[in-house]
Amino acid sequence: MKLLEYQAKELFSKYAIPIQKGIVIETKDGAAEKIRSAGLQFPVVIKAQVQIGGRGKAGGVKFADTVEEAADLCGQMLGMDIRGFTARELLLVEKKEIAKEWYLSIMLDRYTKSPLLIFSPLGGMDIEETARTRADKIAKVPIDPLRGVQDYVISYAMDKTGADKQYQSQLKEMAEKLYKLFFDYYTMLVEINPLAIDENGSLIALDGKVEVDDNALALLPDMSACRDKLQEDPQVVEARRVNFLFIPVEEAGDIGVMSNGSGMLMSCIDLITKKGMQIHAALDLGGGATAERIAEAVRIMLSRPRIKTVFICIFGGITRCDEVARGAVIAMSQNAALGKQLILRMEGTNKDEAAKIVAASELPITVAEGIPNSVEAIYRLHRG
Ligand code: ADP
Ligand code: MG
Repeated sequence: MKLLEYQAKELFSKYAIPIQKGIVIETKDGAAEKIRSAGLQFPVVIKAQVQIGGRGKAGGVKFADTVEEAADLCGQMLGMDIRGFTARELLLVEKKEIAKEWYLSIMLDRYTKSPLLIFSPLGGMDIEETARTRADKIAKVPIDPLRGVQDYVISYAMDKTGADKQYQSQLKEMAEKLYKLFFDYYTMLVEINPLAIDENGSLIALDGKVEVDDNALALLPDMSACRDKLQEDPQVVEARRVNFLFIPVEEAGDIGVMSNGSGMLMSCIDLITKKGMQIHAALDLGGGATAERIAEAVRIMLSRPRIKTVFICIFGGITRCDEVARGAVIAMSQNAALGKQLILRMEGTNKDEAAKIVAASELPITVAEGIPNSVEAIYRLHRG
């Protein structure tokens, strides 16, 4: 779960990471009064609260010199679309005099199997460009989970990138606080960009990203209020309501994959992707689903506009293939108007009966033998 900037900053504040005070505006009505009574010093910065970065470049960060101008901008920015996310809230903070913009993050790194600290003295909106063209200005240092952020971690990061060492103790303190937050909140990523050096030479977090592991949400009661404010994927919410896990994969993809078990799901995704095709979403059916539940899951997958083909891969043990076939037929016949294709691979309990159910339906469902053949069938549908 990716938090909004102001939610991330609330957590920063809890860990004594310096942030600016600000106000959140949700409606145009009353915005001027709210801004006036907040007593902020002008100019102010108005920031669209969306769960995606790059807002500055997408017009989601604006400056205003007066209350009237700020209120006007609030009216324009509320509801604006930023890379597919709607700005339903805005954060207003004072404009800072910034001497330098640094970058600091800690993420869970799959390669080193440890938290990884990433630092750059060339932070700000062009960090992706810096990562591409100035690799010497980015330091990535694994953090030993048993030792935490040691002096050498910060010292190495600053030496490698040529950062001004007079800020070393401030940066270390900042990284320690961020690391504590990273652990306590089971996060995948905590990021401060820009980590600004202000006119007094103090480090301050002007932006914040926190991504909490969804699987830990039950352990984090204060996160449920945060979730209520987020713009969630409609199919994720719908699937969660009926106890399925719907996973959006690639925005540009057009294939939906469903399986009974996450291991097989991932294998299918790997094989399809290896063939040069893109997965749009995946859904884990779990074990023992009935025809009604399968139909519901297929319906959720079909309702995703980008998906052209759905691939269902089943190893029928507790899950019976005939139940899967029946469910697939129900969903496909109810959604025939969408003109989508289904590839069905089933192995195990009642496989033959399942094939008969599909054949009798005369729907655009192809039954394939084995995963490689299924991938070929998907490929033929997509690449003619
Ligand atoms: P995003 O990363 O989504 O583009 P940021 O919050 O990082 O959004 O803002 C983009 C840029 O706007 C920053 O790199 C910084 O230069 C500027 N900015 C953001 N907040 C402030 C502020 N309070 N005072 C001055 N400049 C700011
Ligand atoms: Mg930023």
